[in-house]
Amino acid sequence: MLTGRRFRVEFTDEQVEYAERIGAACRAVWNTGLEQRREYRRRGAWMNYQSQAKELAEAKTEHSWLKAVPGHCLQQTLMDLDRACRERGTFRVRWRSGRRWSPSFRFPEGNKMAVEKLNRRHGRIKLPKLGWVKFRAGRSLDGETLRSATLSREGRHWFLSVLVDDGRQTPEAHVSPGSAVGVDRGVAVAIATSDGELIDSQFVAPGERRRGIALQRKLSRCAKRSTNRDKTRAALAAVRARERRRRLDFAAQVAHRLAVANAVVVLEDLKTKQMTKSAKGTIESPGRNVAAKSGLNRAILSKGWHQFALALSSAARYTGTAVEKVPAAYTSQRCSACGHVDPRSRESQAVFRCTRCTHCEHADVNAAKNILAAGLAVTACEDQPRPAGRARSPKQEPAGNREELLLQPTTAAPAA
Ligand SMILES: [Zn+2]
Repeated sequence: MLTGRRFRVEFTDEQVEYAERIGAACRAVWNTGLEQRREYRRRGAWMNYQSQAKELAEAKTEHSWLKAVPGHCLQQTLMDLDRACRERGTFRVRWRSGRRWSPSFRFPEGNKMAVEKLNRRHGRIKLPKLGWVKFRAGRSLDGETLRSATLSREGRHWFLSVLVDDGRQTPEAHVSPGSAVGVDRGVAVAIATSDGELIDSQFVAPGERRRGIALQRKLSRCAKRSTNRDKTRAALAAVRARERRRRLDFAAQVAHRLAVANAVVVLEDLKTKQMTKSAKGTIESPGRNVAAKSGLNRAILSKGWHQFALALSSAARYTGTAVEKVPAAYTSQRCSACGHVDPRSRESQAVFRCTRCTHCEHADVNAAKNILAAGLAVTACEDQPRPAGRARSPKQEPAGNREELLLQPTTAAPAA
């Protein structure tokens, strides 16, 4: 199946300069192409990829700087523009500004690229016009078929992302059929499972948080378009990037572990985008709400809910795990032992104490159990038509341990 690999590139000085030039050319092609499309739209006409590619070929005979960069990268830029305009609408696609857009361009025809191992830590890949590009080979690409390669700059460093076919297939069935787990993604604790496991991680050290805040303040004081501002922005971006990478790593590791151990993983169907939308529009006390909402937003985004869902669907391809999503309504208010729904049962952020049967448990674990029960109810209904894009390997009905799970006595001690 198709998957991505990312490596840090070690360019020579000439290559850095040339890569920047390719990036600048792609940016110019994007902006010119977008301007042309907008102009056409204003007149009620459409511009498509074919005619733009033709015009690009003509422009190359006139402008030597366009001819000097790999033509494939420019074509790919036009293709990306075409897709962006079709998906988002011509007037919502953004310009690529020299200050805000960091260069990124793609080489198709990965099957024609040679990859060699240099030593234990390094490899090299031959790219059109750039020549041999050295990269830190964190993992081997042996036995994998290259589809395309993308070079992009993040801060000071360049990265090589390759799309590869690793030759593996999604297994027909999971190795431990019948196993299932419910996952509650929370704000206080990143992930709680129905097995009673609480998985959390801090992605920013206290010192890093202080430094981030200090840099943010410094940035707000910097004069616009000054060199100092650029430097501060770069430093802040580096701090943020480190945090982002840790979050991705955490999501990938937990997702892998859960997918390996379970044939079914049930998640709440959280609409993160909608939940984190700005609260400015609300009627009741807007000033207060905005602050509270933005705090929650930061908490939601900082725990990486969306990334976890993505990482899980990616890991599930390798294990044959079915990922179910169930509506999130009442999962935090329902008692997982007796089914009683009462908002008052949620005693605090962490404690759930049922108002009817006095069942007491960690609130997130209780929610995870409800999510699991809801998910298993869905998987048991094989007759129901399944929405597209949620493929599931056949014969994975977890009915075997379903009752067992539902009738499982609670492990937590009841309230005194
Ligand atoms: Zn109860």
